[in-house]
Amino acid sequence: MPTDVVTMDKIVALCKRRGFVFPSSEIYGGLGSTYDFGHYGVLLKRNVKDEWWRAMLQDREDIVALDSAILQHPRTWEASGHLAGFTDPLVDCRTCGTRFRADHLADLQCPRKPSKPPGEGPECDLTDAREFNLMFETTVGPVRDAGSVAYLRPETAQGIFVNFKNVLQFARKKPPFGIAQVGKSFRNEITPGNFIFRTREFEQMEMEFFVPPGEAQDWYAFWKEARFDWYVELGIRTDHLRLRAHDSDELSHYSSGTADVEYLFPIGWSELEGVANRGDFDLTQHTEYSGERLEYFDQATKERYTPHVIEPAAGADRATLAFLVDAYDEDDLGGEQRTVLKLHPRIAPVKVAVLPLVRKDGQPELAREVLASLRGVGQAEYDEGGSIGKRYRRQDEIGTPYCVTVDHQSLEDRTVTVRDRDTLAQERVAVDALPGELAGRLAAPWRSPKSAPV
Ligand code: ATP
Repeated sequence: MPTDVVTMDKIVALCKRRGFVFPSSEIYGGLGSTYDFGHYGVLLKRNVKDEWWRAMLQDREDIVALDSAILQHPRTWEASGHLAGFTDPLVDCRTCGTRFRADHLADLQCPRKPSKPPGEGPECDLTDAREFNLMFETTVGPVRDAGSVAYLRPETAQGIFVNFKNVLQFARKKPPFGIAQVGKSFRNEITPGNFIFRTREFEQMEMEFFVPPGEAQDWYAFWKEARFDWYVELGIRTDHLRLRAHDSDELSHYSSGTADVEYLFPIGWSELEGVANRGDFDLTQHTEYSGERLEYFDQATKERYTPHVIEPAAGADRATLAFLVDAYDEDDLGGEQRTVLKLHPRIAPVKVAVLPLVRKDGQPELAREVLASLRGVGQAEYDEGGSIGKRYRRQDEIGTPYCVTVDHQSLEDRTVTVRDRDTLAQERVAVDALPGELAGRLAAPWRSPKSAPV
């Protein structure tokens, strides 16, 4: 098992220092396990989501997009089983008042005696476990009564199932086809934590793929592989990624197969994404609860059937964390340590930084001209403050793959140097050729320099 896993503290510190992610409502002391994304965090997570959309929509023609509301009819959650069964076992400590997941006690710490798990400290007094529903409840409308109760969605998937008929009608698709959605979900997790790995408000990237029942097993195999490969293609090292099939006792009652794409996070191997063969459970349940027949009628064969569903369900925040962890590196530059994010250029928040060597002699003006010529290439940034070494370090820390430096020679021959974040190689390129040169480099296949040699 690889041992080169960075600590979460280093990731948290870098994210705070460079404004990727910071605690939410910090001026009021923060709100447990909620985070705000700053500029680079927004760019990074948006790239992750864009890559997901690209894989779902642009690279295929059998998936359509959806953006359903966060608030849905409460019957949705009765039909899906969330109201009755979306629970975790919870215990309270009568001494310190802390709540714990009863099934995670061995991995947790007693707040009063951190060397022991809850329940084993000298003063611990745990209640019996009781089931705690993870859905956030709210009320809709001005009157607060039983009829106005609604829930913040705990997953985006149900918004897809309840729209099956709408999409079928308007998208002119027939199984096998998919509906994809990205959006916020909410779970009142008992023990959130580990930075943005588990929070109460997070973004999911889910796709429900509807197939003729006889094709379900093949599509399940297809999506497991496709989703694993997506992370690899975006640079995650293969020895830090694995696909783990659920044991039969881990499976949800409706699932005939589930596999998790797992990443070696600082907390150990943990779920990054789940791929499940959900059978016809969801469409059948919503048919029963709504009275609408959620089926497909095949005109050619005159056959009517309820499609089966293969679901790849990923978390945008958790994936962003995995990309950060996988990219984080500290190396030695001639005695000076640098922290660098070796992110895949497609994921990197900023693709290129343009830096005049000095703030005079016409260099800032030419640098601004170069910056303008790169607007179509990707997110570009201009920085003229501080020594060139400091500016390189700053770009390394946010994972910018290329720094373009305008120097004295640039004014004479209209060439600039392009510095590669990973190899540190510097090459002179003509200003006019720069947009094409960088576009080519950014589109080239990329392998993490942290990978083991092949
Ligand atoms: P876990 O076992 O970690 O609680 P899960 O199996 O309940 O996850 P799913 O319901 O399959 O998760 O959700 C799909 C994906 O959504 C997960 O793989 C994860 O990436 C993301 N996700 C789920 N819960 C959270 C959370 N509380 N915070 C951040 N991401 C989450």
